[in-house]
Amino acid sequence: GKLERLGVQESVEAIFPPSELAAFLSDLPIDVSVVDEAGIADCDAVVTRNHFDALFEVDWIHSTQAGVDRFPLEALAEDGVALTNSTGIHGRTVGETVAGYLLAFARRLHDQIASATERRWERPAWDEAFTLPGTTACVVGTGTLGRGVADVLGSLGVETVGVRRSDDPLPEFDEMYAIEALHEPIATADFVIVTVPLTEATRGLFAATEFDAMRSDAYFVNVARGAVVDERALIDALEAGDIAGAALDVFETEPLPETSPLWELDDVIVTPHAAAYTRDYFRDVGGIVRENVERIGRGDDLTNRVV
Ligand code: NDP
Repeated sequence: GKLERLGVQESVEAIFPPSELAAFLSDLPIDVSVVDEAGIADCDAVVTRNHFDALFEVDWIHSTQAGVDRFPLEALAEDGVALTNSTGIHGRTVGETVAGYLLAFARRLHDQIASATERRWERPAWDEAFTLPGTTACVVGTGTLGRGVADVLGSLGVETVGVRRSDDPLPEFDEMYAIEALHEPIATADFVIVTVPLTEATRGLFAATEFDAMRSDAYFVNVARGAVVDERALIDALEAGDIAGAALDVFETEPLPETSPLWELDDVIVTPHAAAYTRDYFRDVGGIVRENVERIGRGDDLTNRVV
């Protein structure tokens, strides 16, 4: 049908104020307003973070996240609902966050910040701190996130090895492996960084075997989705010293339960699924939404279409 009413669903407030996006899009030749769950029914299209059953009645859903694993993809396809995602906007933000984790591990900043909160003047052991040039990062998933990570880490002198479904090279990476050969690059890397979408093929991709394959002085980083990693196996590997540490932005259960051992483990950095946060997020998402409203107006195919 014709696009007349676009709703900005309140669930986006986990990332930015819904009113900011509505105001940003207010010059479009359609009605744009903030809607609660009940208000979805009055919309032709909805920008949302969360899935609601009422969304089956709209023509087009735009997800403010790149990962659409929380949406019922097959059922939406059957009902003829279009779904677009926000891939393409998180390369620099997540790249800088991952660089921050690596710099913290190398320069021991996480330890020193933790000591400082307890007013303890405590230096690293003489052989703990290192610098990044000459280290190698294996980046598993070479899309927007993976390339953004490789780009920022490359500028810090880190050697970058990509892993994707094929071994076709990409300019951001010094080397490329296909996923079937995953154990080769993770066995030599100083840092293993996960940036794949959660799909049936990637669920549980990192489990005991993978942590065994990694070096005992290597760090593991997950900025993708919690379920790509067997969290129990990761905790076991950290506790046994099979790997040196981890920086985790995503978890099997979010928020990370207070009882999780991950909060307390040495050399584990926990961040609250905020790797892509930026005050420009509503503008970046708004750019994709605006482009698609214009495409619908011209009768063109949607960009970033998943379903
Ligand atoms: P893209 O679609 O741009 O990239 C995904 C990449 O993963 C592709 O390059 C693809 O490479 C690769 N890939 C897909 N399936 C497999 C597989 N089975 N084995 C190996 N590689 C695979 O997505 P984004 O980079 O934008 O986002 C990736 C994920 O990161 C999102 O789905 C989301 O879950 C998460 N994310 C997390 C954020 C956070 O705040 N922490 C922010 C944004 C995203 P190829 O096609 O060449 O195989």
